[in-house]
Amino acid sequence: MLDATSRAVFHSLANVHALQRLASRYGMREGGFACRFIAGEDIDDAVEAVRGLEARGLLLTLDYLGESVKTTAEADAATVEYRRIIQRIVQSGIERNVSLKLTQLGLDVDRATCIDNLRRILDPAREHGFFVRIDMENSPYTDVTLQVFETLWQQDYRNIGLVFQSYLMRTPTDIARINALGARIRLVKGAYKERKTVAFQQKQDVDAAFVRLMQLLLDEGTYPAIATHDPKMLEATKEYAAQKGYARDRFEFQMLYGIRRDLQSSLVADGYRMRVYVPFGKQWFPYFMRRLGERPANVGFVLKSMFREE
Ligand SMILES: Cc1cc2nc3c(=O)[nH]c(=O)nc-3n(C[C@H](O)[C@H](O)[C@H](O)COP(=O)(O)OP(=O)(O)OC[C@H]3O[C@@H](n4cnc5c(N)ncnc54)[C@H](O)[C@@H]3O)c2cc1C
Repeated sequence: MLDATSRAVFHSLANVHALQRLASRYGMREGGFACRFIAGEDIDDAVEAVRGLEARGLLLTLDYLGESVKTTAEADAATVEYRRIIQRIVQSGIERNVSLKLTQLGLDVDRATCIDNLRRILDPAREHGFFVRIDMENSPYTDVTLQVFETLWQQDYRNIGLVFQSYLMRTPTDIARINALGARIRLVKGAYKERKTVAFQQKQDVDAAFVRLMQLLLDEGTYPAIATHDPKMLEATKEYAAQKGYARDRFEFQMLYGIRRDLQSSLVADGYRMRVYVPFGKQWFPYFMRRLGERPANVGFVLKSMFREE
């Protein structure tokens, strides 16, 4: 995790449209610099990538990239595309698990539109036995994301889960609220630039909170997902589960596509459940910039592959 200043730099760059246009032109070409982190621009590329992961014993969740949609038409288009993706996943026979963001479905347009769109996805998803994870975006969306989730839970949608970030100071209270429902939670450190009034800024504080929340989820949660590439967090989780005598299928680990593939494989070899988050789609730039912001070495990796392309 980078410090707050570096994260802010990448956050600002993510909003530079000229850079976005340039990157979009080259990043996903054959062997392009973004291919390491993005499984492709359409569902067929993603299905192919997933088949390779499944052959290695990995579980998966597919994310059709998109966020911060500003019009009803764009939110509708994303919803229609998600419905098409559900059908394509069913036909392909791969695991039925997707992740999505509420701002992709029109949360910034209005809440009712977003809930309607989400239901249009959850209905076929439920019919076909999918699990749908609602990703957590930056802190202005935390309250509304919880409210949308609870509304759908009350309407008997049980094929849904949520994400909480250990860097937010409010997270212990939010987890208690969602644990009480018996819903599934993914725990992450948090990927956005946040103010110091709401979020821990130092890695050691974010990590300490992550360990406390991991323990809470293993004790009281419903099949939690511990989503991190940090070897220390992985060890803490394995040790805590062993100490408490918890079976390895009481929880799962999750990592992002293309990151710490070595650790992904070794967890599977040790008998843990390991799910890979597989993003795909044309709107990959903001996701990609968050991955650069998490690790300076990734910038070197990108530059090297750009020069190779020349
Ligand atoms: C499955 C999954 C789903 C996620 N969903 C969300 C979400 O809904 N909302 C949200 O805010 N965040 C989400 N995140 C991102 C998360 O919040 C962190 O930003 C990200 O996982 C990096 O934190 P870390 O736990 O790996 O630890 P860090 O302390 O950041 O990193 C530990 C080590 O992991 C490796 N590493 C970490 N990131 C990278 C990278 N980008 N490239 C290469 N190596 C890296 C490095 O070796 C690093 O030293 C998700 C992460 C995962 C794995």
